[in-house]
Amino acid sequence: MIPLRQALLAWYWAHRRDLPWRSTRDPYRILIAEVLLQQTRVDQALRHYARFLTAFPTLQALAQAPEEEVLQAWAGAGYYRRARNLRRLAQHVAETGLPPTYRGLLAFPGVGPYTAAAVASIAFGEAVAAVDGNVRRVLARLFSREKPTPRWLSETAEALLARDEPGTWNQALMDLGATACTPKAPQCPACPVNPFCAGKLAPERYPAPRARRQRAVEAAALVLKGQAGYVLERRDGQALGGLWGVPMAEGEDALPALLARYGLAEARLLGTVRHAFTHKRLTVHVHAAPWPGPGEDPERRPLSRLDQKILALAEDASRGT
Ligand code: SF4
Repeated sequence: MIPLRQALLAWYWAHRRDLPWRSTRDPYRILIAEVLLQQTRVDQALRHYARFLTAFPTLQALAQAPEEEVLQAWAGAGYYRRARNLRRLAQHVAETGLPPTYRGLLAFPGVGPYTAAAVASIAFGEAVAAVDGNVRRVLARLFSREKPTPRWLSETAEALLARDEPGTWNQALMDLGATACTPKAPQCPACPVNPFCAGKLAPERYPAPRARRQRAVEAAALVLKGQAGYVLERRDGQALGGLWGVPMAEGEDALPALLARYGLAEARLLGTVRHAFTHKRLTVHVHAAPWPGPGEDPERRPLSRLDQKILALAEDASRGT
């Protein structure tokens, strides 16, 4: 284990990614980065990280902000439940600061084992292993495991952990998975842990792909443009709850239901927008109809990425592109 650790840590100090959350020990900033990185690519997370922290530079600022402002600052990053959970967490710990332990962090909704371990190890130096998708892939390949179980992953990651510098070690493993041991094009000849890797001759076998459980769902959206903007509704539900968007419904009778809701007889089909959530792939048939009311400016509401796509399609259609 020791030569493997030395090889990876030496590589990390020479090649680590220059990311803004690497140059701070502020647990709040590290938490925001790790929550963003749960479901957002690093290049996109960089933009959202800067914007969110400009809006809410401290736990206290986040705790005092109205939910709608928090969702607006998160707009485009997707998975908005993360932003709502962060605000709730901030309200709980605004006075005391973030708990400095893995167990303490894990008690909050939206903070799973990976995020708690990343924050506890990087910000507070607790010796706990963080296992995200990158680390899972690296460990599966290092030990040629096609189907690594959560228990095996956790035990293996703990056994490998450099206990005197756990934050650095966790980030080194994450970086290796993100830049060298990538899903489709692992760079085995240049990899620092190549001599210790049991899977290097057929890395694509490890880990075996997981079955996707996304259902396909059809929906209709109704774009109603008035003199001052669009008709927007506040959404309910887990995925987009609290955000605003154009009237939308799922299922076979979605369009008649929307037309009835707004007292309209018909609408024109503009096109189709596709959007993937964790558990479903949504195909939205976007329709438009004239609207006699004022409507409102979408810039003033927190919109989901899906609604941004729908409105972009509507704008293109109205320009004739
Ligand atoms: S040798 Fe190849 S498969 Fe093994 S850890 Fe390095 S990049 Fe991944």
